[in-house]
Order: sequence, then C-alpha cells, then structure tokens
Amino acid sequence: MISKLIRKNILDLHPYSSARDEFQGQKALFLDANESPYGSYNRYPDPYQTTLRTKLAAIKKIPAHQIFIGNGSDEVIDLLLRIFCEPQKDRILICPPTYGMYEVAANIHNINTLKVPLRSDFQLDLQAVLKTIHTHDPKVIFLCSPNNPTGNALKEIEPIVKAAKGIVCLDEAYIDFSEQASFLSKLDTYPNLVISQTLSKARGLAGLRIGLAFASPYLISIFNRVKPPYNVSSLNQKEALKALQHPARFKRNLNQIKKNRTELLSTLQGLPLVEKVYPTDANFILIKVKNALALYTYLVNKRVIVRNRSQLVKNTLRISVGRAAENQKLIQELKNYEKTTVN
Ligand SMILES: *Cc1c(COP(=O)(O)O)cnc(C)c1O
Repeated sequence: MISKLIRKNILDLHPYSSARDEFQGQKALFLDANESPYGSYNRYPDPYQTTLRTKLAAIKKIPAHQIFIGNGSDEVIDLLLRIFCEPQKDRILICPPTYGMYEVAANIHNINTLKVPLRSDFQLDLQAVLKTIHTHDPKVIFLCSPNNPTGNALKEIEPIVKAAKGIVCLDEAYIDFSEQASFLSKLDTYPNLVISQTLSKARGLAGLRIGLAFASPYLISIFNRVKPPYNVSSLNQKEALKALQHPARFKRNLNQIKKNRTELLSTLQGLPLVEKVYPTDANFILIKVKNALALYTYLVNKRVIVRNRSQLVKNTLRISVGRAAENQKLIQELKNYEKTTVN
C-alpha cells in the first residue's frame, strides 16, 4: 500500500484550492482571482499545465494523468521528500558519486541520507543496496541513470525497485542520450516507481525550468495536492509547448550532440594528459587527469569552463559536449596545456 508510505500530515492535508481549481472553463468573465483586467500576462497560468501535459503524454506515450510537471526536476525531488519523509526520522538512500541535489534537498528537510557508493566501475553495488534496504528501510531511493557525474547508465535498477519497501525515484535526466531504454515502459508494473525526466538537457530548454515526474495516477494526485498552485509560469508553459512542436529539430540536435560526443571521446582518448576517459551514455564526459585543479584553473584562464568533479571522483573533470567548434577550442587548449606542462 503506497498510501502507508505517505506522511500523515500530507494524507490529512486540505490542499489550497485556487480560483482556477474552483472554476475551469475557457471564455468567461473572470472576476475570481484578483487579477488585473489589463496586460498580456495578467491571468494566472493553468495550475495543471493541461495543454503541455497532453503534448508530453503524446510524445512519451504515457497517459497525461500519470505526468507531473515541476519547476525543474529540483521541484520533483523536493516534493518527493515533502510527501514521504518525516524530518529527523525517515531516511533516503543515494549511491554516490551522483547528482548533488538529492542530499542537499534531504539536508534542507533535515532528513538523513544513507550512502551506498557505486563500485569502482560506477555500477550499483546491488548486494550492499539490498542489505541497506533491509537494515535501514529508506523511504526514498534515488537512482540516477545515466548517472551524473560519471556518465554511465546503471544496470541493476529493477532488482532494487522490486526489493524496495519505499519509493524509488529513477532520475532519467540524460536518458535521451543513452542506448539504454527508459524505464517508462515499466511504470505500471511498479507502483513505488517514480521516473523523473527534464526538458533541460536533450530538449535544450534549461532556461524554461520544466521537470517531469512519471508515476501512478495516485502518486501524481498526491504531487498535485502538495505542489505550489501555480508552479509553472504561463510563459514557460507556452514556450515549452512551442519547442515541442519541432520534433525534427530535436532529433537533429540530439544526433549532432551524439556525433560530437563520439568525436570528442576519441580525441580525448588520444591525449597523453588524459589518464582515463570514462564511458558515457550522457551529453558529458568524465575524464581523469594527473592534476585536475591545475588543468581546471588553466582552462578557466583560457575562458574554457568545465566542471571540476574531484571532490566526487579524484582528479576528474566533467566536460559537457558542446558544438563542434567549442569542442575543438577545448581540445586545442588541452594540447596547449600539454606543451606547457612538458616544458
Ligand atoms: C541536470 C540534471 C537534472 C535537471 O534538473 P532541472 O532542474 O530539470 O534542470 C536532473 N537530474 C540530474 C541528475 C541532472 O544532472
């Protein structure tokens, strides 16, 4: 019973009922929300983003009532904690090195974070995760596949979803770049599964802050009870909808990024200063070098900004795949750096 996992105050909640909740309809004289009668953005947005959600339902082949739209994925993460985790009591489980927001969000809510590190090949330590599920009963398990910052898709997700007594949130922010299939097709098999995706990466809409959660209709209804009433602005809904009308452009850009990734991977592999190029299913590449901080600082001075991930994986930099010319500039600077350090 999923409802047993939900915090009592959330189950008991009388959600805020907005003016747009109480009356829905298109053409009418609206004097119910204290809006100004003037201006082009004078009306509150659709609280449930119906048009955008319907479009996403068609693209993802998931019914609209199994989709929640958040103000970025960060809102999805935050809502999961609000719904399921009692501060100072419940626990989440993460598998580091991974996306930093899960633990930050847990800290904000004063929720403990259990950590089961990935193995040295950055795959899940399945036995250790299963053991921690049995001994510590985490309320929410966050899995990220393809994983940030390592880049690889995770292999043994399903046994964890099966064994979990709580919710498993599978973060598929980078799934479009991966050969591995999305877990969306398994949504109806596992009532405890929440899949999070985003329009920020492959869809190129990071500025619009559109995060998605896919789950059972029941869980989506709980998300809707807890979310801020107007969490996605009308401008953002409109622009996202507009961008989604161009599937050919999306495919072209996605293929270009994948092609650039292949080229960047092979060039990086040929550079003596790069000790290791980790395999990637995402739009970024993690590399290991002798002195990541020195290289990072050198690149910053050349106005090439990458991400130093050394605190997560020793002496590593995470490089987003850019346009061909941007990647060439990066490679040129890496070659220049090689010359300076050899002499
Ligand atoms: C970039 C990223 C997201 C996307 O976050 P938004 O708030 O939707 O922009 C989510 N998860 C991971 C692992 C990411 O790297």
